[in-house]
Amino acid sequence: MTGSGADAGIDGADARDADARTDAVTLDSKLQNVLGGRTATALAKAFGVATVGDLLSHYPRRYARRGELTALSQLPVDENVTIVAEVLEVRERSMKARRGSILEVKISDGKGILTLTFFNQAWRSRELSPGVRGIFAGKVSDYRGNLQLAHPDYQLFDAESDAAPLDATAARRWAEAPIPIYPATGTVASWQVQKSIEILLDSLGAVPDPIPDDLRTERGLLAHGSALEKIHRPESDTDWDAARDTLRFTEAFVLQCALVQQHTVLRERHTTPRVPVPGGFLERFDAALPFRLTADQNTVGSEIARDIAQGSPMNRLVQGEVGSGKTVVALRAMLAVADSGGQAALLAPTEVLAGQHLRSIVATLGPDLAAELMPVLLTGQLPVADRRRALLRMVSGQARIVIGTHALLGESVSFFDLGLVVVDEQHRFGVDQREALRLKGAIPPHVLVLTATPIPRTIAMTVFGDLDVSTIAMLPAGRAGIESFVVPLADKPNWALRVWDRLAEELALGRQAFVVCPAIAPKEPEQGETIEGATIGPGAAAADAGAPTSVEVLLEELKRKPALASARIAPLHGRMTSELKDQTMRAFAAGEIDVLVATTVIEVGVDVANASAMVVMDADRFGVSQLHQLRGRVGRGEVPGLCLLVTSAEAGSLARERVEAVAATLDGFELAQVDLELRQEGDVLGSIQSGGRSSLRLLRVATDGDIIAEARARAQRLIGGDPALRSVPALQEAVRRRLDDSERASLSKG
Ligand code: ADP
Ligand code: MG
Repeated sequence: MTGSGADAGIDGADARDADARTDAVTLDSKLQNVLGGRTATALAKAFGVATVGDLLSHYPRRYARRGELTALSQLPVDENVTIVAEVLEVRERSMKARRGSILEVKISDGKGILTLTFFNQAWRSRELSPGVRGIFAGKVSDYRGNLQLAHPDYQLFDAESDAAPLDATAARRWAEAPIPIYPATGTVASWQVQKSIEILLDSLGAVPDPIPDDLRTERGLLAHGSALEKIHRPESDTDWDAARDTLRFTEAFVLQCALVQQHTVLRERHTTPRVPVPGGFLERFDAALPFRLTADQNTVGSEIARDIAQGSPMNRLVQGEVGSGKTVVALRAMLAVADSGGQAALLAPTEVLAGQHLRSIVATLGPDLAAELMPVLLTGQLPVADRRRALLRMVSGQARIVIGTHALLGESVSFFDLGLVVVDEQHRFGVDQREALRLKGAIPPHVLVLTATPIPRTIAMTVFGDLDVSTIAMLPAGRAGIESFVVPLADKPNWALRVWDRLAEELALGRQAFVVCPAIAPKEPEQGETIEGATIGPGAAAADAGAPTSVEVLLEELKRKPALASARIAPLHGRMTSELKDQTMRAFAAGEIDVLVATTVIEVGVDVANASAMVVMDADRFGVSQLHQLRGRVGRGEVPGLCLLVTSAEAGSLARERVEAVAATLDGFELAQVDLELRQEGDVLGSIQSGGRSSLRLLRVATDGDIIAEARARAQRLIGGDPALRSVPALQEAVRRRLDDSERASLSKG
């Protein structure tokens, strides 16, 4: 290949300037020492890579072939693409309005045609002549209905140098060798990554193997160095295929070793055992409980009781449907801790939810217990005097129960004897935040994580591998249930009216309703609120028939609907002050508001038994599990729930499939699986865990469950006999690198 194309901050000279005598390049070597500072900086900016190991795990996204042209017919507009094509024709013309010229180069892959444009670079016609083939990279734009790449980077296949095949076999091999295509950015193109990686591979010393020999042999895996070579410089498809298998298993194994090790380390820490006392808070609470705990609540309750009675900290995840009664289970654990003289903190994801938790906990405790346990609220919006009083009660130990938001993680916050941390709705918090709260205790507290997002086993193992998992699968008896319907505006536009009539019918029965919109105001999505799945869900973009429905616009529309003329309608969204939000929620709970037009601020935990109807506008813009969570807001009491999922997505589209999946079942675990399958690979973890470099490379939780499970079993076996992994130093290193990585990711996040 010849080097050409626009300068993108990487060039060969820079690489030659680098210290060529670096004799032992290892996975931990800094890129700048091998590639030179300029290249290293460009790569760091583009991909967050710092070391040789980092860049070598920037694996090709796919492989192209010289002999075979890639489809030009389905190029996504506004995305960076890399394509293999042949130059068809070259045309130079002068611009009308300005001085200068445009060089237009038409390229084709035999199926489609794309135009490359260069301004004032007529000299490029010398190399871009008809018949020449190469790789072209750039951002696809749509110029008057024609797809084009403006100032693309390119690399031509040079028929004379590396391409000159001497005989037929060599020719075939040349044509068939897969060309790695790397994830690229606007500033660093795929082949620039490729060039840097080749330099690394050429200078890399022997690479020690993180997989123990016996395991490698047993599974027929490649040696680590050979796998790296073959994934980046395959001679055939078999090469990269085998390399991927090896590296995928390695990834799973290293991750599981890290998690299993963390789990073991945690087990070895000491903490105060918490045991309820006879006649104490817990006993009194249980005696006054107006209902019987479900069998699952009892089982999970005793798992927790057993954990916190130990001298090592509990680290447990409780997953259960919305309304399955997790909060009661957590509250009972908090009371056991209070019995032993300690405090418990409940960390909620939003101010609204923290406030609601406080009110419902106070109500559930009853006046006597509440007075003795003195639950306090600590959020960022608290007036100074209230805040000071709350902090005082926490540090003096008067408040046995503290409920708050992220503000609990603040530096000025300290406890008298923090014995238990309960994290509600885990998916909103990163591992790092769980850890920050854990550090609030002089001795590590027990940690209980609650989530209503059902987590498929593979994810639980991958992301929460350091947690023990309990499940509340059944709902308390007496729930009236929810009926869900898709309102497909693409096929049945006039159903839009029917939605509001149906809503009015519910209100006429004395019930209340939520209407959820993806946006607050026209155009702008709510700040800080991720519409899970919407940006990545393949359907969301496809279904984009215009701007998302916004609270402000819909609110005005609904107020004008004759059917809703007598309804009291109010907005609720994240741009309101937390005071106003709180006030609105209270008014809604008190029945003073009939319809809340809201964003997903109501997603988590908001509990109003009389709310029976939920309308979700542009339902395809929400993720599957998010819709399921939203729906959980209705049908909580004896009043049956109704959920209308309004969508403009076309029948048969992925977007529509997701919405239909939600309507079809109330089983959160089933939906979590559907979610996994419908989402694009690798994005699942993103919503749960911080992304960054720590996210998975080749491993896919949706499809690699077996590999993850096997890796976990092998990791447990190995660490059981060798907790420090002394027998496999390269594995020890790989685990350390993996943890560094997550740390870096969480730091860059904060
Ligand atoms: P979750 O936090 O899992 O969504 P909650 O703990 O908030 O659920 O419980 C939802 C509602 O069900 C609350 O009003 C709670 O008092 C009630 N509840 C909890 N457990 C039971 C039970 N075993 N029987 C009847 N009602 C229950
Ligand atoms: Mg709850």
